Amino acid sequence: MTLVDLGLGEVHFEVPAAATYNGGQLLTNLRAEGLSPDDVDLVLFTHMHRDHVGWTSDGAGGLMFPNARHVVDQKEWNHWQSGSDPVGPDPKTVLTPLTPAVTFFTALPPTPGIQALPTPGHTPGHTSFLITDPTTDENLLILGDAIHTRAQLENLDWVFRSDYDTRLAAEHRTDLLHRRSGSELIIADSHFSGGVFGRSGVSR
Ligand SMILES: [Zn+2]
Repeated sequence: MTLVDLGLGEVHFEVPAAATYNGGQLLTNLRAEGLSPDDVDLVLFTHMHRDHVGWTSDGAGGLMFPNARHVVDQKEWNHWQSGSDPVGPDPKTVLTPLTPAVTFFTALPPTPGIQALPTPGHTPGHTSFLITDPTTDENLLILGDAIHTRAQLENLDWVFRSDYDTRLAAEHRTDLLHRRSGSELIIADSHFSGGVFGRSGVSR
């Protein structure tokens, strides 16, 4: 069982002048599928903004998913090691429990059928994922925060306020959506309003 990103966690907090965040239902939804945290054997992080790493800790100093390999881009991990940032991973509940367990992406797929695509720009080590169905060859592209709104699908040069490097972010948005445009491509983006999944309609 693989999870891509760990949502907000069981928290409610506000980033001044940005947004109010309410925690999600990850554990409840896993339970509804008959799964427990022990069943998760791989956690892949697109990046380490606070709203993507929320369920990392079990609240008692350990990992919520103790049997899982936790994998992130090494540049991303290094970036968040110095100091505390209100939108970055909480040092106590995320970085500390992850430190003895974290591993980094290599040139090899993190697991068969999933490719990690380096897409820095939104953050220094942002990663998107391409998942291929072995029976149909259909592809699912998990964007992470490479794209924040549906409007950016048609305006790939539009920047999001929290992009770390706007030029790189725009380059990778374009590359991501054109890289696979010759094949069936389902995209997933957790920040799109009204639904996470859709089909890319970007033309070349
Ligand atoms: Zn982000």
